[in-house]
Amino acid sequence: MRPGEDRESPLRGALFVLCLQRLSRVGRPRSTPLPKEERRREGRTLANWYTTEGVYNALPIPLQNACVTWRGWRIYRERFGREHGALTSLLERSEHLSREEQRDYQERRLQALIMHAYENVPYYRDVMDERGLKPSDVSTIDDLQKLPVLTKADVRAAGERLVSRTVDPGKLRVAWTSATTETPLPVRWDRAVTLVNHASYMRVRRWAGVPFGRRYATMQGTPVVPIAQKKPPFWRYNAVWNQVLFSQLHLSDENLHHYVRKMRDAGVEDLETYASGAYVMARYLEDHDEYLPLTAVITTGEPLLPDERALMEERFRCPVFDAYGQAERVIFSCECEKHEGHHVFPEYGITEFVDGDGERVRAGECGLMLGTGLHNFAMPLIRYACGDVAASSDAVCSCGRTLPMLSGLTSRAGDILVTPDGRMVPPIMVTWIVKFLEGVRNWQVVQETPTELRVLVVRDEPVTPEEFDGLSGYLKRRLGPEVRVEIEHVDEIPRVGRGKSRHVVSRVPLVWGVPNRSAVEAEHER
Ligand SMILES: [Zn+2]
Repeated sequence: MRPGEDRESPLRGALFVLCLQRLSRVGRPRSTPLPKEERRREGRTLANWYTTEGVYNALPIPLQNACVTWRGWRIYRERFGREHGALTSLLERSEHLSREEQRDYQERRLQALIMHAYENVPYYRDVMDERGLKPSDVSTIDDLQKLPVLTKADVRAAGERLVSRTVDPGKLRVAWTSATTETPLPVRWDRAVTLVNHASYMRVRRWAGVPFGRRYATMQGTPVVPIAQKKPPFWRYNAVWNQVLFSQLHLSDENLHHYVRKMRDAGVEDLETYASGAYVMARYLEDHDEYLPLTAVITTGEPLLPDERALMEERFRCPVFDAYGQAERVIFSCECEKHEGHHVFPEYGITEFVDGDGERVRAGECGLMLGTGLHNFAMPLIRYACGDVAASSDAVCSCGRTLPMLSGLTSRAGDILVTPDGRMVPPIMVTWIVKFLEGVRNWQVVQETPTELRVLVVRDEPVTPEEFDGLSGYLKRRLGPEVRVEIEHVDEIPRVGRGKSRHVVSRVPLVWGVPNRSAVEAEHER
């Protein structure tokens, strides 16, 4: 480890930012102030330059820290403006409005969105003309059912025809929906979506009791540490946000102790990470009979399983708050401090739950989630099938907030097992297999056909016949007696996308005919 690189302070970070600002103006006559638009463009060029991986990776670590801080500063400046204050007060107020008032808000925004889409988005003009619909025909949440479900294939086929004529596509943000497929799908939005997404994220932090400015750590897929780097530090600093960014992609058995020690030494109080990242740390702490007390752990990006949560809460000695969102920015949900299920954020979008024919299912029944983002006027996604499955709930949370609830976990369609008789079994139903495999470090159930299950096991000792009988009997009771179970010892479970982990991978299409995401991935893997 190089001397001094751990002692990053906000002041040092700020100095780097100032240096970079200076650098970005090299070669320009001092006396000629740049027009505002050109200054903005220049900043963007520099940002693009440092995010170019090769250049960033070649920089010495202090300069990488400076780049991360610079980016943090730009994000801070963009997101914490006046609009953020207005959005925050809207979100605080609406948490206690009646469901009818929340619905009114959604429908007012929906009417504006539909009108805009009809006037300015060629794809929706065609869809509505084909059905003989005028904007006034789609003014309520129930009316939405007059419009078709928007699948990923539709978005791909529509291309630029889904982008509003009123915006310059080159100026929009782009997210790639599916990092594991060969042809990811670009989804675009403008600053309004960035702002509402950020305000929603800050609501998560508010519920979790994580104030801005307190030192926190993130461990997600952002490649802040070059993959070629084999020695610590596996983290970088964003001094503006007081954030330590740990690399999810370097998290391994042999590196774990560096992560734990760094979190301790850096005085990290809160952790935001994929569920699997916090879980492997908790496992490490358990193996070494250690604790790493934090104030809150916020998990995203992967379904959080109950036994994982329990171990995290024990080893980090704090509550875990699970949040859900997706790159397409159509649905956002999170747990509050009562942990009675996810609250869906109605200000963010309209959420529907449908079967494979696009018909709505009742509260409590699992359905494919459709999201209509209420802020993306640049590329409206209306009734967009994001590929995740959950159930709505009529329950009222004891926290007193009136926001609607989800029941159970949100699962990717490709994480759901399909039984020989056509039932859908969410991953949570098979997590108990860890009880039959003492000391298992990681595991994955892979379903190739409705009757074939492979259980991948990462453990030093082989599975004994008694353990196999227990595990196999358990799976047969859940999925059916005709199911064949095989055990496979592996060194590690392959991760997907940006280092995400999955306990269940099903290659069987869901019974109601919704394309199974794993099936798509399998196609591309061939
Ligand atoms: Zn609540």
